[in-house]
Parts: sequence; C-alpha cells; structure tokens
Amino acid sequence: MSARISCVLACFLALAGFGANAGVTKMKLTGYLTARVGEGNLMILDDRIELSAASKILSRDDNGEHPFKPEELAPGMLVEAEGQWLDRHRFFPEKLTVDLRQDERRIRGTAYLQEEPRDAAKIAAGEASELKVDGYRLTLDAATKRGWNVAKVSAGLPARDAAVAATLAGYHIRYSGSPSKDGRIAVEEIELGPPAPADDYKLPHNLEIVPATDPQTKIEVLEFREGKKLQGRMKLLAEHTVQEYVSHLGDSLIPEGAKGTRRPIEFRFFVVEDPEINAAALPDGTVLVNSALLGVIENEAQLAFILSHEMAHVLQIHYRREIEETRGSRVGLTIAGLAASAFIGNTGMFMAQIGIASAVNGHQRELENQADRLGLQNVIERGYDPREASNFARIIINRYGDRTTSKLWSNHDSSVIRGSFLTMQLMRQYPDGHWETAKRNTPAFQTMKDDLGPVKIM
Ligand SMILES: [Zn+2]
Repeated sequence: MSARISCVLACFLALAGFGANAGVTKMKLTGYLTARVGEGNLMILDDRIELSAASKILSRDDNGEHPFKPEELAPGMLVEAEGQWLDRHRFFPEKLTVDLRQDERRIRGTAYLQEEPRDAAKIAAGEASELKVDGYRLTLDAATKRGWNVAKVSAGLPARDAAVAATLAGYHIRYSGSPSKDGRIAVEEIELGPPAPADDYKLPHNLEIVPATDPQTKIEVLEFREGKKLQGRMKLLAEHTVQEYVSHLGDSLIPEGAKGTRRPIEFRFFVVEDPEINAAALPDGTVLVNSALLGVIENEAQLAFILSHEMAHVLQIHYRREIEETRGSRVGLTIAGLAASAFIGNTGMFMAQIGIASAVNGHQRELENQADRLGLQNVIERGYDPREASNFARIIINRYGDRTTSKLWSNHDSSVIRGSFLTMQLMRQYPDGHWETAKRNTPAFQTMKDDLGPVKIM
C-alpha cells in the first residue's frame, strides 16, 4: 500500500514536471463561475473566460454530454474550460463543460450537527423553525416532511455524560431542499439520525500523538506511538509564543457541538516545522499547522478559516466517510517501519503510510466543500471577515502560479476551485452580508508573525 501511494505521488509530480517543461498549449481551467461580465464573458475568481463563437459549450450529467446554451451559464455553476491562456488572467475556451451533477438548485446532504439546534422542540413539533447544519441555514415550514424522533434515534445508544445527555449536537442530519433568495435552504425533507460511533474519531492503528522532548537534542517533537512503539516524530516549531497563539485561536473557534460527540474530542493545535503550505486534521482532533502556512498568511481571519475548515473535517468524520466510500482500499495497513529516531521528513508521505493521506492531500470535493461551508459559517459567527477565505486561496494561486494542482492545502483540487467555491458560497448564502467592519487582523496575529520570523517555504 505504501508503495502504491508513493508511486501515485511520484507519478503525479513527474507529470506536473512534464507539463511545465514541454510547454503544452492546451490548458484546463476548472472552477465555479463567480460572475458574468459583459457580453459572453465569465469569471472564475480572478480569471476571465472569454467565450467566442468558436467555443463549444456542453453540459455533463449522469447520462453524458449535451449541448448547452451560453445564455444559461450562471454564477455558481461548476465548469471545466479547455483551451488557452491569452494572458495571466484571460482564458479562451475551445470547449466549456458545465457539470450539472453539481447542480445547486436542489440541495441534498448529510452532516453532523456542529451546534445545539435552538429550535429542536419546534422542529419535533412540526412547527416553522430554523436549523443550522452542513454550513447552511435551513428553514422548515408546515410542508416539511420530518423524521425527527429523538427517543427512537437515541434508543440503544450508550448512556452519555449528564452534561451532554440532553444535547443533539453531534447527531446526524439528512436533508433535501432548495435555496431561497435570502441564501437559506427551504427544506422539503429532513431526518434526524444517531451520532457517529466513538471509534470514528480514532486514529488508525490505535496511534496516539504525544508531545515530547528528544532526550539528546532537547528538540520538542510530536511522537506518533503505536502502543510502546514509536512510529515517527515530527519537529514542533520551537517558538512557544507562536504555538500558544495558534492553540489559543484554535480553542476560541471550537464549535459548540464538539462537546456532543460520543467520543469527547480534544482538539489540539500544533505548529510543525514543514516547508509546505498546508494544514491537516487527524481524526482524533489533532490539527497540524505547518510553519510555512503561518509564513504566508496575511491575517487572523485567514488562519481562523483554515482552523475552522480543519475542525469540520474532524467533526464530520471525513476520514471515516472516505474509508466507507472507498471500501477496502485503505484498511488493513501496516506501517512500514520508520526508524524511530528519524524525523518525519515528508508529512504527506507519512500520513499516506498510516492510512490517512487525505488529512494532508485533501478529501473528495464534496467533503472539502462541506468543510469550506462549515468553516465559513464558523468564522462568520465569530465576527471574522469570511472573504479572507478566498484571499487565502489567492495567496496560494499567486505563489504557485496554480492552473493545475500542486502540493497545497487541499491538494487534489486546485486553489482556483477552492477560491471560486468559497466566493460563490458567500454570494449565495449571505447575499445581504456586510463584511466591511468584520475582523481581519489583531495585534496578537502581528506579534505572532514577528515571533515567527522568516520561515522556509517550498
Ligand atoms: Zn480540507
């Protein structure tokens, strides 16, 4: 298994290198349409797609490809353009395909409640009510079909701590509905389900992550232990003030619903020395922030979004959901013995070895989108400017030139997709949002940057 993963990585890097050197002219640009500008031009974040009569426009659904009228192209649609760059931000598409499988006119989804539903009694009673779930604000009315029986759903569950016994945070929701003009989702059908089993928050191989100090060098590390056996060590950033800042910020952002999960999640935030711009969340609530990420972010709102996004991966048990959806391909791994004394040189490779490559490489698009929606909602509720989430994507795009993908935050999707998704979600869900006075920066963030000093960035 580990050999297969490294091959995938190696092949991917080799292909990326080939593309750059061979000067391939046919390029692809994929993302969510964020605006229509002028006659026939479309925007994906900062890139303008210039349609012409020569552009072939198609839609794709489960039955294949069909012709699509250009006037029906609208913000929010996921499109894949194939063609050429005219200059840095102008793209000519020979072919433009609209992905109708991502149709957002009808929304259905599943999620775990990240906060206690304020209207729980009203929902149960069949009354008009609201519910925040999946990063959306749902509205229920008399016509909403409801399967909401707390007693039935909780029957047979192990007894919970008295403090959380009465809460619904952590419970599962399945819903379908359609978006309203005000950005809320009018729900047709909703169903309450039990919270995730406690084991879903465990690390594979029963690994434990323990902060420790190397006895010889006195370097502070994170140890990955399998029983008594040390499977790997990561170097923690030595600046304690930086660790404390990130930890403190992370704690302030923990969704209320984290208390309701069946295995109490202890979110822990660590800054590790790593030159890749990335952050990762492990199923047990350990959030790793690479030093390089702190080196490039511009304000606290960006970091608040990234940490909220990572916590959503944990609370929505994305690691577990991916295993279920790719059944068999990641179970039964053994860790290819690393020399216990060595430091983990490549976090991504190590995570692949222990079976949680998605922690650093990103999850499937639906799961990344869910973490983005919940991340946006979390920062908005705490008074941060949510537009900084797309600005973080822009930082990555500008640094790496983007276009394809590279070793970044949410590796498998390009930052253009992430940035355009975030922009589109904000427009759709918060059409009346005013963020001018929202929090972007704090003196504590600036102090952290000063303490951090220059860091190595790959
Ligand atoms: Zn992610």
